[in-house]
Amino acid sequence: MSLREERPEYTRDSDYYFDDGNCRIRVNNYLFNLHRTILCRSSVVFRNMFLLPQSGEGNPSVDGDRDDHPIVCHDSLEAFRAWCWALYAGIEELGGSNSANARLGEKECAHIGLLAHKYECLAIEKWAQGALIQRLSVDDHSGRPSRSISPLRLGYILEVSTNCNWTSAVGDLVEKHLIHTIASSTTPSPVCLRNLRIVLEIAEGLGNGQLAARAYYHHLRSQKWCLALREREDRIAEKASRFSLRDDARRSDRWVNHWGDESLMMELTEAQEVRLYRGFISLSALRGRLRNMPEVSRQSWVALDCTCLASHEKKWREHAQKIWVDDSFNDITDFLVEMKRRLSIDSWTGKAHSGPGSCALVELKDEINNFLGGFEASLTEFFPTRSLPWFAGVFARY
Ligand SMILES: [Zn+2]
Repeated sequence: MSLREERPEYTRDSDYYFDDGNCRIRVNNYLFNLHRTILCRSSVVFRNMFLLPQSGEGNPSVDGDRDDHPIVCHDSLEAFRAWCWALYAGIEELGGSNSANARLGEKECAHIGLLAHKYECLAIEKWAQGALIQRLSVDDHSGRPSRSISPLRLGYILEVSTNCNWTSAVGDLVEKHLIHTIASSTTPSPVCLRNLRIVLEIAEGLGNGQLAARAYYHHLRSQKWCLALREREDRIAEKASRFSLRDDARRSDRWVNHWGDESLMMELTEAQEVRLYRGFISLSALRGRLRNMPEVSRQSWVALDCTCLASHEKKWREHAQKIWVDDSFNDITDFLVEMKRRLSIDSWTGKAHSGPGSCALVELKDEINNFLGGFEASLTEFFPTRSLPWFAGVFARY
């Protein structure tokens, strides 16, 4: 057997092995033959590499000048091909709205952006971000994605966008899409549950506690804040099923990891369950406390003798009591928005307030609006991502 036969055979890429190319690049078992001028035009990394003295002394060969002497790139084949496409399209063509450009999906754009970042093709990287923003568009008003993309694909895009330090605009859009994969259904479909688990894995893999917290919250919200199987079924059917305190209904009324036989495979991990429960409990408790009108926080400059708020306390309790029993307002933000509507809170101007200091009425209005406005950002406080090892022991007993 000759040496030549021992060498692994590489396949010439059908699209990007140019006969007149002068730069062989190997990716996995595929050989590409590109043009140095094209590479230098876009990539700082290749430009610098070609400036370096190449190969050992006495060896006239230059890296990449022969099939058996390629430059090796440790990239995925699919990503490399997408990047080649962008290199040869050139930035002028990328900027246009030609059909080839429109055919590219969000995954290809992420591939291109990833390698453009790695090989320092600044213009192409910037283009890829813009193309992604365009492809991930959501409805301005409802925030709903214009089309659905699988969570695994979204996870890849988020990972690329995080690792390349792209503008927050890309990450924000990907997260909106990911949340949508969990929250798009109001019944606990196996798909939504599987997606919850995938999104949590993505968030944990990237150390993105904010995304994990939003995933837990939107899951609970989509389930109308009902973790008990029987009760949820009743709500969906809009009537109570027959039960007695003696039958096994209470035992079969299992918790969140038991959604039904088909979903047994999709249980959350124990740590994930703990976080879900923690958020569920603390947000439910806060909603419970809202049956009484909240006080204005002590930090604000409220006049000591302001009694404007007191005149609204009774009305607050009356309305809060009414919507407290209504499942439509199980979510704390829905509850507060409904209270704002019923008490016309946005029209509280403190006109009747006299004396120095600010009016408690106005302060409370601001606090409610600030709470609602910053709610998504505050979710990590309700669903803390730090693992609490002692909890695992407590739950293991059940
Ligand atoms: Zn006042």
